[in-house]
Amino acid sequence: MILNPLIANAYKVLAGGELSKGEALALAREIEGEDLLDLLSLANKVRKRFAPAFHKCSIINARSGRCSERCRFCAQSATFPTHIETYPLLEPEAVLKCAEEIYAQGVRSFGYVTSGRGWRKCDADFEKVLRTMDLLHERLPDMELCVSLGILSEECVKLLAAHHVKRYNMNLQTAPGRYAELITETHTMAEKIETIRLMGKYGIGNCTGGIIGLGESWEDRIDMAFAVRGLPVDRCPLNVLLPIPGTPLEGRPLTTPAEAAKFFAIFRLINPKLMLKFCAGRETVMKDFQGLLMLSGLNALMTGGYLTTRGREIAADRAFLAALEQF
Ligand code: SF4
Repeated sequence: MILNPLIANAYKVLAGGELSKGEALALAREIEGEDLLDLLSLANKVRKRFAPAFHKCSIINARSGRCSERCRFCAQSATFPTHIETYPLLEPEAVLKCAEEIYAQGVRSFGYVTSGRGWRKCDADFEKVLRTMDLLHERLPDMELCVSLGILSEECVKLLAAHHVKRYNMNLQTAPGRYAELITETHTMAEKIETIRLMGKYGIGNCTGGIIGLGESWEDRIDMAFAVRGLPVDRCPLNVLLPIPGTPLEGRPLTTPAEAAKFFAIFRLINPKLMLKFCAGRETVMKDFQGLLMLSGLNALMTGGYLTTRGREIAADRAFLAALEQF
């Protein structure tokens, strides 16, 4: 079978070349069916060459719901009638218990996530976050501590760096040009990017990605991939929307496995060296196709559950990752 010329051209990435926006968009618009498997195969080769190791992490929702913001996909906004379990910031000991359980199952990267817009100053809750980080570091010194707290001031970023935080999650979510329309008008992409840059300044690694299935175009998806490429980011969580009843996106059709695989593959070709992590939507939306998706250029996954939805058991995901190493 003759390789589609668009894919043949994209093989330059394997040799260290770069894909232009136009070339990425042509792949998105024209590759389908049998050719799609050739594209996924190329993305997997690029992953093996530039980012071969598989990685896993787990998260805790340390403060759930009651959020002042209105991100259209999110179950945790106080504005949307989603009926999730809500609770204030967890005590440090409760977080430690969860981290110890995760650690015992072989996970060495722990994400502490809070709902809300973020912090401008170090108030009582932020001090509790810092005490939690100190406790985790003291009891589990080789657990990588990652946090996701929203938009932060420089003062808060500096404190996180001094309290053992190694990585920060701040997702762009979608294309910078469509952010207000597709995600929210309650905070801006510029504020997020400022927080991402502050992390770089204080030596904290950035974990920055987004979500598909919101109603965005292929151009938007590719714009997001290039926006991530232009930031100081070395890990990138990618999510597929699970429409939550009560949110403005509850009626969105599910992303198909073929569409998600094509997105992941093109994202890998644009960002050959990034750690690309499949997060929400892996089990719930992709079901039987999650193996195919992981072989579309991804090299990491979130295991054990998400912020407001359950995931697969960590032991099952460990076996899954071991099997993927053979490809
Ligand atoms: S994504 Fe974060 S900021 Fe946006 S509504 Fe959800 S919890 Fe609030």
